[in-house]
Order: sequence, then structure tokens, then C-alpha cells
Amino acid sequence: MFEGGDDLTLFGQSIDKPLRCRVQVTLPIDRPYDYILPYGSDGQQIELQPGQIVQVPVGRRIVPGVVWDGTADEDVPLKKLKEIAGVSEALPLKDELRKFVAWISSYTVSPQGSVLKMALSVPQALETITGQKLYRFIDSESVESNFRITAARQRVIDVAKDSGGWTMGDLAKEAGVSSSVVKGLEQVGFVESYHEVPDFSFPVPAPNIKGPELSVGQREAADDLMSRVREHAFSTVVLDGVTGSGKTEVYFEAVEAAMQEGRQVLVLLPEIALSSQWLDRFEQRFGVAPAEWHSELTPALRRKTWRAVAAGKAPVVVGARSALILPYENLGLIIVDEEHEGSFKQEDGVYYHARDMAVVRAKGCSCPVVLASATPALETMVNVQNGRYDRLILPGRHGGAGMPDVELIDLRFDKPERLNTGPGWLSQALRGAIRQTLEAGEQAMLFLNRRGYAPLTLCRTCGHRMQCPHCTAWLVEHRRFSRLQCHHCGFNAAIPETCPSCSAEDSLVACGPGVERIVEEASKLFPEANIALMASDTLTSPAATREVIENIQNRKVNLLVGTQVVAKGYHFPYLTLVGVVDADLGLFGGDLRAAERTFQLLHQVAGRAGRAERKGRVLLQTSDPKHPVMQTLKAGDRDKFLELEAETRARGGLPPFGRLAAIIVSGPDEAELDNFCASLARAIPQVDGAQILGPAPAPLALLRGKFRRRFLIMSKRSIAPQGIAKEWLGRVKPSSRIKVVVDVDPYSFL
Ligand code: ADP
Ligand code: ZN
Repeated sequence: MFEGGDDLTLFGQSIDKPLRCRVQVTLPIDRPYDYILPYGSDGQQIELQPGQIVQVPVGRRIVPGVVWDGTADEDVPLKKLKEIAGVSEALPLKDELRKFVAWISSYTVSPQGSVLKMALSVPQALETITGQKLYRFIDSESVESNFRITAARQRVIDVAKDSGGWTMGDLAKEAGVSSSVVKGLEQVGFVESYHEVPDFSFPVPAPNIKGPELSVGQREAADDLMSRVREHAFSTVVLDGVTGSGKTEVYFEAVEAAMQEGRQVLVLLPEIALSSQWLDRFEQRFGVAPAEWHSELTPALRRKTWRAVAAGKAPVVVGARSALILPYENLGLIIVDEEHEGSFKQEDGVYYHARDMAVVRAKGCSCPVVLASATPALETMVNVQNGRYDRLILPGRHGGAGMPDVELIDLRFDKPERLNTGPGWLSQALRGAIRQTLEAGEQAMLFLNRRGYAPLTLCRTCGHRMQCPHCTAWLVEHRRFSRLQCHHCGFNAAIPETCPSCSAEDSLVACGPGVERIVEEASKLFPEANIALMASDTLTSPAATREVIENIQNRKVNLLVGTQVVAKGYHFPYLTLVGVVDADLGLFGGDLRAAERTFQLLHQVAGRAGRAERKGRVLLQTSDPKHPVMQTLKAGDRDKFLELEAETRARGGLPPFGRLAAIIVSGPDEAELDNFCASLARAIPQVDGAQILGPAPAPLALLRGKFRRRFLIMSKRSIAPQGIAKEWLGRVKPSSRIKVVVDVDPYSFL
């Protein structure tokens, strides 16, 4: 009789019960499964440690997984278990990283396997790497004396003798022999073959390369960071200083301190692929390039970087959000630069905020994390106020350059005049200021955060609006390409000659401005100006970007028009005027952070003016000059803005004073979706201190052909919405055609 769980006997001989372990696989599954440990060539089972990376069968597939903590359930019948199919030679995932995976999983309400998959995102790095087979000469006394050294053999020996490894092909070719000659020499022991494992390491910066002499305030901040690094203890510190105050120089000192301690550094940047200026600076300061981590690496470089990080052979990693979950061997410092940036929130797959997760990661690694910004997020500042985070303040701009003067232009009184060709968007005051600036031989910049020519095209005859067929969104005209484009799904079409609704001819008109239209207006008003446009769709390559930047730096261009890509860190000494075409643009749309984002963006744009000895001037065109965002920008009073914003949020119980989790439900069939939402609504739990709103059609009620509905869990700070979401959603199962996404701490409400 066979009984599950008992030792087996076979012909009277006892066979030990096979050993088991738990494996978390990289599929959207929330808990580890039990497996049988693999057998070695000696017939014995191979013991595995938690963290070891393995290949296991799941259904008919073989997938990567990680030996997980805890013991397997001995009561599961043996015949239900499968054997581990392979063990990776990659280093085991450390305890700290396994805990981090589990933490993200529970915080974001995502299956543990989906989070683990992000940590094992480079399948090539898990494979056994044998490397290339090479041949080299060995001095062998022991060779049989009757082995004749022919001329051909001698040539091979001569070639191989004083040089490194050769591939078979190269060696034979260089010696002018066939490969059988080399093989013969190998057989008798004149040459040997070996496998050269590729070098998975990044150069270590030379010690003691000095940065610039720091000012007293900068030095104090740098010393503080360096001592935190040397303590090997967790703390979160906000590095707060206006653009140009030297935050980067200061945290570079901390980077150096960590390297001296022999510990790794992670620097998170928003949009790493665009940060060539940062990389140049790093290389100038440290003499070598850091390891980069972002979506545009080649597979070979991804493999090298993953392995090097795990082996502690990448001293500094600079990357986008996903660099956070690499398997660091010895992480000693995390920097989050521009910590307030919205792009740190991932809204795809596992929805997480890299800044917040960086704090968790630093805690797990017992190291400091630095959050650097000129306009820290309200969340961050509230954490400073309640003592969870420390703050270091850098006083003013380095070298004494002043902050620009900010003036408001009230569009209700200074209405932009029409041009003879159509409507205008620049007020008299702004036109005058641009003229003055250009006449003084300086540069001006016009900022409008909207790509394309016009955000809306409508029919003058019937009022029909050109809309995306797959999304709840208007099509944006891009005149440069003569196309109408959807900014959500990428759909695009030629601009029709007749209205698709009423067939009227020449009746479609562009409404509202995008940057292309501002370029058009500026070139009419200032025909003598040299105008350049900077937007993400016009800067199609790093080379194109570099060219525009150079033309601004060498003053070939004197009038720059751009979207938010111009807000990023560039330093143009002759740029003295910044005009914001529509300062109110970001304030609409029901996003709880609309005011905060507008303040941060406009503050950053304003910071482009007057970064050298010439004083800068910033003109904001607004229809609501009394708005707190405009008033505090004008007064240059960031802390006042944060104070007002905190009051508004506290009153509404909104983050960071309350918690939110959004539930986004989508599917291709509207009726089925609404049915499912109705059953979810019926199952809404009653929880003290929390409420669930919805379902409501999402503002993007149709996106890429899928209908979308939203629920919102709002709770007090003391109540975690994750628990509510998990319990509630666990009770109502959607069909396979319906997708349910949980977005904890949502940043987008579309
Ligand atoms: P932030 O990161 O706060 O915007 P940066 O570190 O980029 O400021 O500094 C702005 C500019 O001033 C950079 O060109 C930087 O090299 C320079 N700078 C900052 N501090 C010093 C210093 N102590 N000595 C020389 N140059 C400095
Ligand atoms: Zn679309």
C-alpha cells in the first residue's frame, strides 16, 4: 500500500522520502508552490538555499523561479509534486531582496510572482554562461619525444607562444594551417583549450578625483551625507535647494564616500535615456562611466549589468525606476534625483512609486536614501514635518546668480491680438518683452506644455469634433506631418478635406494652440529671429537634441519654443526671458495634484531664466492671476504654496493626509463591463473610516478600444486601503475578458 506522506518501501528496502522546497515562480501567482529538489549525477538530491534561482515546470511550461523561504507542506501527496528542472548558476537573491519583493507585492496588491518577475527581468543573465572556447600555448616538458615538430606545427606554436587566447579559426588562419594541426597539438599537450567567461564588471572610479571646492553651505550638507553613508544605517534625507544650488555636486560627494566604503550606489533619474548631460558630468567627476539601467539597453548589456550588479562589480548604477529591483550585492546609498517627478510612478504591470519604494529598499539595505529636488513633493515635505525624513537645505544658487523676477500677465485684460492670418496667443506685454530681449542680443524661451499644432479640430459648419476612434480623446493636429494624432494610443490619420460628418468642404478649423502654432505666430511677429522648437516628437534622436542644444549654446538660435522637455536641467547663460503661454493649462482636469504639478513645472521652467550673471525675467500668461499657484510663483514663495496646498488636501482628507487606492476595470464589451461593475458595487464592504466611490466612467472612458470604469477607495491614514481592496475584489471574480487593476496611491486619474 502506498500512502502519501509515508516513507516508501520497495522490495523491503526503505527509500528516503524525497526532499521538497518552496519555489516562487515568475507568473502572476501570489504564493510559492512546492517542488521536489533536483537529483545530482550521484543520484543524491541537491540541497538548495532560499534565494537560489531555478527553472521549474508549471503546467507544460518551464519557468524561472526562486527558492522561497519557509518549508514545503509535507502533507501534499508526492505524486502531485514536480521536480525542479534546473538550477541557475546566477547568485542567489539575497534575503533583503526577497523581502523587498514580498513587500512591494503586498503594498501594491500585486501577485508576488509578478513582482519577482521584475527582479528576474533578464532571462539571459540566469543562463549558464560558458563563454568562448579559446586556445593557448602551454610549456610542456612531458611531450613524447617522438612527436615531430613540423614546420606547420612550429608556426602554430610561434603564434600562440607569446600571446593570449585564440579562437580555433583565428589561430589556424594566423599560422596558415588547417584546424587539424591545432587539434593535433592539443592532443599531445602543446596547446590547451579553455573557456573564457566574459568579464561582467564595470570600471571602478579612480580614488581621490576631486570635485569643485564647495561653498560652506554645500560642504556642511555634503559632510552630513557622507557621515550617513559611513554609518551604514537607514535614514531618509531630503536635499532641498533651488535649481543650480549644487545639489548634484553635493550628492556626488556622498557617492564617492560610498565607493570608498566599498558599497554600491544607485542613482534614480527621471527619464534616464534623456540624461546625457548628467552622464557627462558623472564621467568628468569620476573618470569612468557608471552602469546604466533603462529600457534601451541591448540584451547583452542587460545581461552584463545584471550579473555585475549581483556580483558587486558595478560600483554605481544610474537608472530608471526598474533599477530599484536589481540584485545589488552591497547597496550603500540611494539617490532619487528630482524626487517630485511624476515619471517615478509606474502605471503598467505592477503599479508602484519608485521614490517611495526607494525608501523601503534603503531600509532593507540599512543605507541612507537622498531625495533631491528644488520643489519637493507635498508628501515628502509632510514627512519632513512629522520627523520621518531629515532635510538639508542648500542656500541659493551657486556663484550668487539671482532667481528671476516672475510677473503675471492677466489675459482677461491683455488679450492677445489677432494676426491677419488667424488668432494670436501672445499678449502685448509678452510680445514687447520678447522684442526687448532679442534686441539686447539675449535669448527668450516660450513654454507651452502641448505638442503639435492644435489640440482640437472642429467643423465650422456642423460643429463635429475630430475624435480618436479608440479613445475618449480629441485628435491633435501635427501640421509638420500633416496628420491628426491621438496622444493616448498613437492612432493617426490624414487631415480630411471635407468634414466626415456633414461633408462640408474647407470647413475644418484648428482650435487652440500647440507649440507648432506658437512657432508659427512667433515667426510672423519676429521674422528676424532664429527660432527652434523642442518637443519630444521633434527631438527624435540624441543627436537631434544635441544639435538644438548646441545651437542655443552658441547663440545661433535666439528664440526657443518648447514643451516640458525644455524644463529639464539645461543651462543656457544667455537665456534671460521665459514666457509661459498658458500657465493655467495644467490646473484643469480634476487631478488632486494639478496645482502641485503646475507649481513644480512652472517653477522649473522659470528656473531656466537668468542662470548666469544676467538677471532673468519670467512672464506667466494667466486668466486666473489670483490663483494660489500664480500668486506664490510670483512671490517666489514655494513654502507658502506647500502650506496652502497642505491645507486644501487636509480639508478633503486627500493624500498625504488620507489614503487612496483606485480600481480600474476595463474590457472590450461595455455591457459585460457594466454588469461586472454592478456586482462589484453590490459587494462594496462597509468599513469604518473608509469609503468606496464608483463605479464611474473613467475620464478616458475608452482607451485603445477598451471601455474603462473606475472605483476609488478613500480611507483615513490609519487604515490601509490594500486590505479593503484585497478582501473586496477577492469576492467578485471577473471573466477572463475583464481586467481589474489596483492602483495604490494613484497619480493619474484618467
Ligand atoms: P543642482 O543639482 O542643484 O541644480 P548643480 O549641482 O547642477 O545644481 O550645480 C549647478 C551648476 O553650478 C553646475 O554647473 C555646477 O557644476 C556648478 N557648481 C555648483 N557648486 C559648485 C561649486 N562649489 N564650485 C563650482 N561650481 C559649482
Ligand atoms: Zn486613441
